[in-house]
Amino acid sequence: MATPEPQPLLFVLFGPGGAGKGTVAARLVAEDPSLWLSRSWTTRARRPGEATDAYRFVDRAQFEQRVSEGGFFEWAEFLGNLYGTPVPHPPAGCDVLLEIDLQGARQVRAARPDATLVLLEAPSPEVQAARLRGRGDDEDHVRRRVEAGVAEVDEGRTIADEIVVNDDLDRCVETVAGIVDRYRSARSAGA
Ligand code: 5GP
Repeated sequence: MATPEPQPLLFVLFGPGGAGKGTVAARLVAEDPSLWLSRSWTTRARRPGEATDAYRFVDRAQFEQRVSEGGFFEWAEFLGNLYGTPVPHPPAGCDVLLEIDLQGARQVRAARPDATLVLLEAPSPEVQAARLRGRGDDEDHVRRRVEAGVAEVDEGRTIADEIVVNDDLDRCVETVAGIVDRYRSARSAGA
């Protein structure tokens, strides 16, 4: 008889803006064909130069319609914009990676206690601010994101299974990939 496909694992990369979640998530899925990155919906306007498929960019009415249909696994409002993860349908054999904020991570923890929550922290507020500026956020946005980030990290540490500081991108990606491997090995061992 054929061996049944193992249940997909659910990994959540969360943490403050400017920690580098997007970059780390993109690298992880580029290096691991068995890891599937969910594409979120947002009502935020696309930034100049941002990839058209970075999100599914929608208006509030479209977003709210999907909420009312129960089409989101989790969703949250962040600095005036809505962000949501569609109910995931990964390809067969793939595990799932979400890149979301603290509010979303909290919802995932409640809905799926088996999910692995990885908190990604910036090495310092200065590095965090520089990363936010580098992608074109204005100063007011940078200030609010850095301030919000302090509380996000404090609470994030209380719900995280793993905490990784993104001071060096290569090392950070390697560390998170190692975490993914570890949880996969535990699944294979039937733990
Ligand atoms: P940004 O506007 O910088 O792309 O994202 C703002 C915040 O929303 C980031 O912390 C990002 O991780 C988070 N985010 C992106 N997609 C989702 C999502 O689907 N759900 C939740 N809860 N947060 C998201």
